[in-house]
Amino acid sequence: MSAFLERRGFPLDEAKARAAATNVVLDDIRDERDAQDTKWGTDSTPPDGTGPTTCPLLDVVGEGIPAEDLARYMQEVVEQASAGGHVTMAQILLEEVFEAVAENDADALRAELVQVAAVATKWVERIDKRGTDPSLTNQEASA
Ligand SMILES: [Mg+2]
Repeated sequence: MSAFLERRGFPLDEAKARAAATNVVLDDIRDERDAQDTKWGTDSTPPDGTGPTTCPLLDVVGEGIPAEDLARYMQEVVEQASAGGHVTMAQILLEEVFEAVAENDADALRAELVQVAAVATKWVERIDKRGTDPSLTNQEASA
């Protein structure tokens, strides 16, 4: 978006360029919300299914690992990967997702879900930026 505007003579400082990039993603999120409402209906309200002892991976890996342990594990993974200079967006998003799943307080859950959305939004912005800057590439985690 920012490159599009700059090519057309609109000077953008970095903050405006970032805001424009975020707005592109937020528009896509609004469209996806509409699509979800169309698919599932606006009255579909499954339970949160969260809390520190919830085991979100039980049906996937067959082990009942509590969400609070998964959150703590991913916090350590992100901290160590960050200190080593090789943290990934996938690791950061999983940390935020498990932190959200571990919450059963509505205010804390809401705050964590906003963090999930912020990380996902930033990740989409990075993917969009790659499309306009060939020097940027996806570097998969080697681990
Ligand atoms: Mg968090």
